[in-house]
Amino acid sequence: MNNEISKRRTFAIISHPDAGKTTLTEKLLLYGGALELAGSVTAKKKQRETSSDWMELEKKRGISISSTVLQFEYSGYQFNLLDTPGHKDFSEDTYRVLLAVDAAIMVIDAGKGIENQTLKLFEVCRKRGVPIFTFMNKLDRPAKSPLELIDQVEKELNIQTFPVNWPLESGPFFKGVYDRVKKQVHMFEKVPGGAYKAPVSVHDFSDDSVKEKLSEKAYEEIAEELEMLEFAHNGLDIDEVLSGKTTPVFFGSAANNFGVELLLKGFLEYSGEPVSRNANGTPVPLDKPGFTGFVFKIQTNMNPKHRDRVVFIRACSGKFTRDMTAYNTRTGREVRLSNSQSVFGQEREIREEGYAGDIIGFITNADLRIGDTLTTDPKIVYNEIPRFAPEVFAYMESNTVSNYKAFRKGVDHLLAEDLVQSFELAGSTSATPLLGAVGPLQFEVLQYRMKDEYGVDAVLVSKPWTVLRWVDPAVSVDELKKVVPYDCAHGKDDKDRLVILFPNGWTMRYFMEKNKEIILHESPVTG
Ligand code: GDP
Repeated sequence: MNNEISKRRTFAIISHPDAGKTTLTEKLLLYGGALELAGSVTAKKKQRETSSDWMELEKKRGISISSTVLQFEYSGYQFNLLDTPGHKDFSEDTYRVLLAVDAAIMVIDAGKGIENQTLKLFEVCRKRGVPIFTFMNKLDRPAKSPLELIDQVEKELNIQTFPVNWPLESGPFFKGVYDRVKKQVHMFEKVPGGAYKAPVSVHDFSDDSVKEKLSEKAYEEIAEELEMLEFAHNGLDIDEVLSGKTTPVFFGSAANNFGVELLLKGFLEYSGEPVSRNANGTPVPLDKPGFTGFVFKIQTNMNPKHRDRVVFIRACSGKFTRDMTAYNTRTGREVRLSNSQSVFGQEREIREEGYAGDIIGFITNADLRIGDTLTTDPKIVYNEIPRFAPEVFAYMESNTVSNYKAFRKGVDHLLAEDLVQSFELAGSTSATPLLGAVGPLQFEVLQYRMKDEYGVDAVLVSKPWTVLRWVDPAVSVDELKKVVPYDCAHGKDDKDRLVILFPNGWTMRYFMEKNKEIILHESPVTG
């Protein structure tokens, strides 16, 4: 079992839209042998968009809302790549996916440097101490200087960098990279449309063939930079990588397949086996007999013909076998884990077994919710899915009185799926709870599904708050009532925990300044 577990690598790619996440995904699959010719993921994406009306929304907005799991093998290792939606609007879905991974590859457009979405996703990874690998992409286009790029990562993300390779020029002159660890130059050749693996020739930096390909000035400049790196970025401490303090940096061009294989190899070399997860504050050994895992994502209507529901579980310990039974610790009931699938985009295969680190999808209507622990040992309960503070708020109302029943049913079902969060505000006269989301896109999805699945035209009435904080459980409602200013609101979440809503960060800070005895939290504290 340990042998199987140590071969798992479960990761996500994070980036700002357009930095090249989809392209890199495709190229990783190409090098992982899961695709013959690059281009088919994009083709599949198009097919999916036209074959499913749930994906209509994706198509209309030209974005990817749902994340999928892609599996491939490379060098004897089993990679599980979780796709994170790349749209600027955030959803809790994106955050939750990042809770199920053990590492992340951060793609940066070398012409643009760090962009705001990269920053936000990076922070989520950093909070958990997830190891982060950096891929500076699009070196075939005019790029910022490599020194400027790593400097920006260090200053803006406040993380150490270790450039594993270094680009030999950029734009039309981009020739290849120097592998600082193996001390070899990799020269790449372009292939039409980047459709198959780019031929590589390997040289010493001092070889005449390398000097011939670079101008004298460029050669000298690069030699100087490499010397400087030896001084400033010498030696990679693997523990620093595994604890998320240092990011190994790779340069390349995903579209041209340049540097993709070096990234894969480096990722394998510097990433670790699956990270054990905590239950009741203690890590559960990966090879503990039996099976444990937690639900981090539920995707409904992936296939509209069957109105199916796929529940994704991150396996945390032991071995999963098809048809086994496990407890759901929330309901206290046993669940038969049948209909287990490997999902590759839209394609599915029956899955017979899985190990710690794996992502397993179940097609099921069983009572499973995000955050549920499934375990053969009922004493183990994971608490991996925190709530993230919502930043947009609205009430949802039905347009017509006649289908109020369907409206209510839709609201209840979709809230049970944790699509958005819900709150009861003190003094509210609304028949439905206040809804809160991390990004407006979540509301759009909700509205779309109300129409598509329940036939209801739901109207969203936006509310002006932008910051929500959970109040420390030691504070009572009465105490709170006395101090909440008139332009703020207070109430409870769906688990009866006190919250305050502020119109902006400034009001919140002012409130904190004035009410030092009231402690506010960005995510709920149970107790
Ligand atoms: P995503 O939004 O992060 O998934 O980005 P995509 O992978 O869809 O890429 C956005 C655009 O950048 C597309 O037009 C790609 O063809 C292009 N692109 C991706 N990688 C490269 C690269 O290495 N060089 C160049 N020139 N273009 C690239």
